[in-house]
Amino acid sequence: MLGDSALSGSGAAPACFDVVIAGAGIVGVACAWQLTRAGLRVAIADSAFVGGGATAAGMGHIVVLDDSDAQFRLTAWSRQLWRDLRPELPASAEYVECGTLWVASGGEEMAEASRKREYAASRGVAATLLDAGELAALEPHLRPGLAGALLVPHDGVVYAPAAARWMLAQATAHGATYRQGQRVESFGAGSARLSDGTRWSAAALVNAAGVDAPRLTPGLPVQSRKGHLAITDREPGFIAHQIVELGYSKSAHSSTADSVAFNLCPRPTGQILVGSSRQFGVTNAVVERPVLEAMLKRALAYMPDLGNLSAVRCWTGFRAATPDNLPLIGPHPSLPGVWIAAGHEGLGITTSLGTAHLLTALILGNSCAIPAHPYLPARLSTEVGRA
Ligand SMILES: Cc1cc2nc3c(=O)[nH]c(=O)nc-3n(C[C@H](O)[C@H](O)[C@H](O)COP(=O)(O)OP(=O)(O)OC[C@H]3O[C@@H](n4cnc5c(N)ncnc54)[C@H](O)[C@@H]3O)c2cc1C
Repeated sequence: MLGDSALSGSGAAPACFDVVIAGAGIVGVACAWQLTRAGLRVAIADSAFVGGGATAAGMGHIVVLDDSDAQFRLTAWSRQLWRDLRPELPASAEYVECGTLWVASGGEEMAEASRKREYAASRGVAATLLDAGELAALEPHLRPGLAGALLVPHDGVVYAPAAARWMLAQATAHGATYRQGQRVESFGAGSARLSDGTRWSAAALVNAAGVDAPRLTPGLPVQSRKGHLAITDREPGFIAHQIVELGYSKSAHSSTADSVAFNLCPRPTGQILVGSSRQFGVTNAVVERPVLEAMLKRALAYMPDLGNLSAVRCWTGFRAATPDNLPLIGPHPSLPGVWIAAGHEGLGITTSLGTAHLLTALILGNSCAIPAHPYLPARLSTEVGRA
């Protein structure tokens, strides 16, 4: 199939590739990189610039999550891919294996921490239970009275915009064509048209447009979910781990309610990213004071000493959410030649690498390292087909 790309349209013959990708966020560029490594001719376009969408707005936490077996498999595998990549990543990607501390405020949450530890351990992912004293010794600025925590030592943090730029550079070094500031206006029947009128033909057209994916492929069940983040001034050593409340998953995976959760990310600069919030149905990007206040209040409830630092900037971004909290990776069920790599919600930086490997294997008809079916768009085919 690949390499047989038919020319289409009128006027000048379109440039011919094996794969055209719409969107150069971390998911699109990871796919471009893997596909070129597999020997395919790839073209990728972004309506803005590389890593400028949700990728620039995110925290960069590389994390194993276990809300479902499928989520665990994809995040654990992707985290391993990030760990394997460390020797190759440039210093600007600032990959640090700081570990995640899942903080338990009481006995019920300690029981949940224990369940998570057993679940992870039985699947080969290291995690350790800490009591209150051990937690306080690791992160002395947390408030007294917490019950303990689960430490997942091999989670990490990456500066995603730099990692995305590097992956794109790898792809272009392998021969990929990149067009910046060019929207893919239409997509289908083996052909893509860019906003300047350029036409590209390819057997595989990959929609990696993040929250804008349904604009390019109408009917995709992807909803935008707004998030706020704040960043403090520099206080090196103030925290050493990504620190998240155990209730985070409830906030992240409620598919209706707006919520905030305590989530801190240490930056190599000594700054601390403070999150996080989730809102459905909000399309404007303005920082909303009530949401920001609720988020910061939640953070101060866990770490009152944060009040001694200044928040120097805050911003918002949009996560691409699906109804079952799993990304859409694979062929569109009813549009031949159209492939989807979107809907990664709050985990797309983590899962970009696994997504790229899965998509490449599926396009080439190769076997996948993990079962692909939980992520195939066809699983939501009633929604996917609805325009
Ligand atoms: C506040 C917040 C915190 C987060 N924290 C984390 C975290 O700690 N860890 C984690 O793993 N994930 C996190 N995420 C999620 C993560 O940022 C996203 O899942 C990930 O960046 C999605 O990447 P993407 O490439 O799919 O989308 P994007 O980065 O949004 O890229 C899509 C690109 O497509 C382009 N585009 C759109 N339409 C078109 C078109 N028609 N033609 C051409 N280009 C087009 C856009 O310009 C954009 O550059 C967070 C997200 C937010 C908002």
